Amino acid sequence: MDQATLVEYIAREVLAHLNPLSGGAWAVERQALAAKGVPVAVSVRHIHLAQPEIDILFGPGYALHKQRDLYQPGEFAAEEVVTLVGPRLRSLSNVRVLGPVRKRTQVEISRTDAITLGLKVPVRPSGQLKGAATLTLVGPRGSITLPECCIVANRHIHISTVQARTWGLRDDQRVSVSVRSERPAVLGDVQIRVADTFKLVMHIDTDDANAVGLTCGSTVEITDGE
Ligand SMILES: [Zn+2]
Repeated sequence: MDQATLVEYIAREVLAHLNPLSGGAWAVERQALAAKGVPVAVSVRHIHLAQPEIDILFGPGYALHKQRDLYQPGEFAAEEVVTLVGPRLRSLSNVRVLGPVRKRTQVEISRTDAITLGLKVPVRPSGQLKGAATLTLVGPRGSITLPECCIVANRHIHISTVQARTWGLRDDQRVSVSVRSERPAVLGDVQIRVADTFKLVMHIDTDDANAVGLTCGSTVEITDGE
């Protein structure tokens, strides 16, 4: 909490004591303000596929098979996996396909994966594929070399419209989060992503998670907006 917020806190606390009628609403607001805790999910490398690529990799008209539901409503891990091949023929196999089918194919890997593949891959919000890396995808029925498909996903927090309003956050805002772990840290440039249906969760990749000692189910705290 910054100093201005703290001062406001104290002022309103004092006012609440002077006027007990104002205490109720403030108590609720104070609770929300005080605990901007966000559960963490660690994203392992994965791929979202569009139908034209599914047709090439798995066969014409092929439909993905759901393996399990993911935390966000409608999202699922598919039974299908692909192999990623970089320009020096280095590869990563068993890369999980996540459904549902998207308009555009997008591969999300960590910086460590990029080094393994011998690729330069930009850090990007999901969906911003201009300048993304070119990668060869291999499936059981075919392969394709796809330009501008591969990114290192940025740190981001999914949050519902209602919760965002409560915490005074807006879509695409950047915040910092504080990590209390064996390796405490502050992570900056965390993108806020607001939608009615989103459930509260912070997505980070395996590099970030391992660097600061976070695992699935850890909690971080939003400390400030930027
Ligand atoms: Zn996400």
